[in-house]
Amino acid sequence: MQPFNKEHEGNADLLVLRLNEWKESSPGDYVQLIQIMQDIKSLETGRSDLLCEEDKQALVKAGAPRHLIDGDKHLSDSWVVRLFSFWRLNSRLEAYLCYPSIRESFPPKPRLFVSWNSPTPVGQMVHLMVSLFEFRLLRRVRQCEQCDKWFYASRNARKFCTPLCSKLNWQASGTGKRRRREYMRKYMQKYREESI
Ligand SMILES: [Zn+2]
Repeated sequence: MQPFNKEHEGNADLLVLRLNEWKESSPGDYVQLIQIMQDIKSLETGRSDLLCEEDKQALVKAGAPRHLIDGDKHLSDSWVVRLFSFWRLNSRLEAYLCYPSIRESFPPKPRLFVSWNSPTPVGQMVHLMVSLFEFRLLRRVRQCEQCDKWFYASRNARKFCTPLCSKLNWQASGTGKRRRREYMRKYMQKYREESI
């Protein structure tokens, strides 16, 4: 496990940029990225979707024993669901082959490094996502709870892309509304007192 560095931050920023771009301009690529990201995140948090019949059939087609998928008295349902989630994620990842190349960074301090490439832009982003996951940073790539824009949470607790979204969300919440009403009431009271 390497410490967090600028390179990871740059990768996260690039992924966020593409997600926001593709959400509008390239829905097909966007959906592919989102599916993989959701699969990884659900395995990280331990939450998995339940198996529907279509999923079960796909699993059987891929070579999993039918009795295992239908439930085995020795295996809990959650274990089977988790097994399926790994299988689905890894079969999705198989579609994005990557190849390495050796490069050199720019002067003044050139150093050799390995760069992983993919023949397609979406493959490049999938690789980027997997490397962020490796450093436990993919969980910080998230959607703003106010405006749905993708952003990278520099602090883990951040839920909004900007201070403005955070403010708007707070204002719309029950507490925000109550406090604003209270403020307006006091303001009007003061105004009336002053106008007398
Ligand atoms: Zn926002």
